[in-house]
This record gives sequence, structure tokens and C-alpha cells, in this order.
Amino acid sequence: AVQVTDLHRSFNKAGGVLNGLDLEIAPGEFVALLGRSGSGKSTLLRALAGLDRGVAGTGRVEVPAKVSVVFQDSRLLPWKRVLDNVVLGLRAGDARERGLQALAEVGLDGRDKAWPHELSGGEQQRAALARSLVRDPELLLADEPFGALDALTRIRMHTLLRKLCEVHQPAVLLVTHDVDEAIVLADRVIVLDGGVVRHDARIELGTRRSQADPAFARLRAQL
Ligand code: ATP
Ligand code: MG
Repeated sequence: AVQVTDLHRSFNKAGGVLNGLDLEIAPGEFVALLGRSGSGKSTLLRALAGLDRGVAGTGRVEVPAKVSVVFQDSRLLPWKRVLDNVVLGLRAGDARERGLQALAEVGLDGRDKAWPHELSGGEQQRAALARSLVRDPELLLADEPFGALDALTRIRMHTLLRKLCEVHQPAVLLVTHDVDEAIVLADRVIVLDGGVVRHDARIELGTRRSQADPAFARLRAQL
């Protein structure tokens, strides 16, 4: 689904942020992206989302046609009701029905006419997920989507996201600072460092929840 070859990005200072990064993500694969603050995770995501003109001409970035992005804050438009946010820009005749269905999928049935400020932070993030998924993306890019949520809501969101991914099967690149979140959700964890992918580890389904597994210790040691 994603193929990045020799991607470079710098911001007019010594040392680039991305220094010849290579990355491949298979269709339907769920990849968690870890790395210290400032290591370039958001920069990579913006490049993949096509939101960064500054990477043009530096290596090759191939992404699917349908890409959705979720950020740490929901970025719902405050002057539009929840359903209107979810279906914004969709022209299909059945957009509203699909929007309502997406809201139901994220547990927001009945909230379609609410204003964004009437939702809690977690509900706003769920609406943002609905807005992404109603577009049926082949690639879902998420930049610390649950970073601002409390621990309990975050765990609920993990369950929800896993369920949504089973249904919609997008490839996912999820930026997170939370190693447990990465391990619980992802098929594969990569660590960005020095502007390249420094570590790339597959998480076996069986070991997913077993913190005792040596793979966890190895992964932690790499951070
Ligand atoms: P965090 O975990 O804190 O979100 P990150 O890994 O997402 O960090 P980036 O936001 O990608 O890091 O930033 C990587 C580096 O690039 C930082 O040093 C940052 O200051 C720099 N940078 C990012 N965007 C810009 C920009 N538009 N202009 C100048 N410098 C930038
Ligand atoms: Mg960031």
C-alpha cells in the first residue's frame, strides 16, 4: 500500500529530519511508528498525506489513492454539526446514510445533529475516526490520535480502532509515544531515529498481550 524510497526532508538547518528514509507497508498492515520527540514522525506522516510540498523531488513516495488522516485533535469544523463534519465533501447520494452508519460504528448514534463542542474529547476523536472511515481509505494515517485522552478512554479507543480495522482493513500508520499502544494495536512496530527507520519489528499475534515476552523487552530497549 505504501512505498517510500530514499525520502529526504530538512528545514534549513544542519542535519536533515528525514535522511533517505525507506519504508514499505503492505495493504491492510497495521504499523505503529515510534521515535523520540523531534525524530520526524509527524514530518513523515505529512509527507505521506501529501501535506508537505517541501518533500517533492526527494526520493519516491507512493501511497494509495484514498488516504485519510487523523490528528491528535479532532479538527472537526466547529460551525458544522457532527454528521456534516463526517460527510464533508462527499458527493455520493448516499453520503448521509453512510455517515450515519459510520457514526453508529464508532458509538455515536444519535449524536449526528450535535455540535462538535457538545462532544467530549474522546467522542470528538471518534467522530474524527468516523469521518476518516466513511471515506473507505486504503491508508489511514494517525498522528497520536489518542494522545490527549485519559487512560480508560484510550483503551476503549484501542478496542474500537481494532474493530474498525477488522471491518475496513485499511493499511494503518499510527504515530504513538505509547509502547503498549503500539504493541496492542500493531502488526509491526518501527522506530524512527536519525531520519531513517532504525528498528523494524513484527509483533506476533500470540505475544501481543504478553508483556513478559522477550520481544517486548527488546523493543523497549531500542527506544
Ligand atoms: P513529536 O513526537 O514531538 O510530535 P515528531 O517526531 O513528530 O515529534 P516532527 O514534528 O516531525 O517530530 O519534527 C521533526 C523536526 O523537524 C523537529 O526538529 C522540528 O522542529 C522540525 N520541523 C518540523 N516541521 C517544521 C517546519 N515546518 N519548519 C521548521 N522545522 C520543522
Ligand atoms: Mg509529532
